[in-house]
Amino acid sequence: MIKKRASNIEVKKINRNKIFRYVNKYGRVSKPDISTQLGISMPTVLQNINELIKQGLVHEVGEFESTGGRKATAIAPVRESYYALGIDITQNHIGLVITDLSGDVLKHKRIYKPFSNDREYYKEMAEIALEFKNNEIDEDKKFLGVGISIPGIVDTRNKKIQFSHALNFSNIESERFSEFIPYPCILINDANAAGFAEMYHYDKCFNAVYLSLSNSVGGAIIVERQSYLSDSTIADKLYLGDNLRGGEFGHVTLIPNGNKCYCGKRGCFDVYCSAKTLSQYTDGKLEKFFREIELGNKNLLKIWENYISCLAIGINNLRMIFDCTIILGGYVGSYIEPYISRVKEEVAILNTFEMDASYIKPCRYKVEASALGAALQHIEAFLCTV
Ligand SMILES: [Zn+2]
Repeated sequence: MIKKRASNIEVKKINRNKIFRYVNKYGRVSKPDISTQLGISMPTVLQNINELIKQGLVHEVGEFESTGGRKATAIAPVRESYYALGIDITQNHIGLVITDLSGDVLKHKRIYKPFSNDREYYKEMAEIALEFKNNEIDEDKKFLGVGISIPGIVDTRNKKIQFSHALNFSNIESERFSEFIPYPCILINDANAAGFAEMYHYDKCFNAVYLSLSNSVGGAIIVERQSYLSDSTIADKLYLGDNLRGGEFGHVTLIPNGNKCYCGKRGCFDVYCSAKTLSQYTDGKLEKFFREIELGNKNLLKIWENYISCLAIGINNLRMIFDCTIILGGYVGSYIEPYISRVKEEVAILNTFEMDASYIKPCRYKVEASALGAALQHIEAFLCTV
């Protein structure tokens, strides 16, 4: 009997969670619509909506146009009821993002601030972040916390950052990053955070590889994600591997005995497809590189074509291993949309099984995907509690 009761409570909780996530996603919906789309009975929907109204998470926002019978009440989420802040730490900058239950970038900012592993830096980083937060959010009770994205291997179990090539350190305590921040902090690897952000709004994509083409090449592997439209709540599961190095695609060998990589080995994916491979020809400015190829700069077009050939090998390898959607992100990913059909063409030539390369997608977030993904750790944790 006790077991049965527990399972009823569980079902009730799952239903409420599904209903809130549905309203939160679609913005303005009717109760019959919720009932039909989620396959939950009308009395259960009514009871849950009333509870969610009491909690201040949804509200009534007028009526829908009548389609013959009684007009249906429109229900909408109160998305601004909870906020989170995301910080992206890079070698030379601090990226900042505010998001709410919508999961969208509400405000963002990027500040030049070279990283330095000392208390002064961590203190200033916290001051910059908190000033940004305080300018945008006035009520602390609505603030869920801070997500911090780091270009390194984040070991949450042992509460340390094992290694960061970009920031030039190994084995430092996670606490250093959060010491001056008086709110709950979650640390996450930058590529994992960006991958998480990209997947956040996908309803029907259950496995994906996020390929981060920034100043180094990395990525995230998201597997067996569940949708709230099926039998469970949504969960973006990141595959981290046995040593937290899952998704370190940058050091896959692309060209045997090829050019030297910063890691000390030769022919790594990183050597041929990092953003630096392109920006080194335009004073370190990637934007300028893409502007030049738009203008038809022949030398740079040749370099771009060579880049695409190498990228295609890498993408095809990932597709063969993971057989899932591949999202192209990072600095190069944010410029790649106009060239995506060219990339697909090259990959299709290499693929053994399929000519259709529609599984390759340009990233949705062109700026601050990592900071957003870090902030979303708090939003997702909150959504799980509704
Ligand atoms: Zn390497």
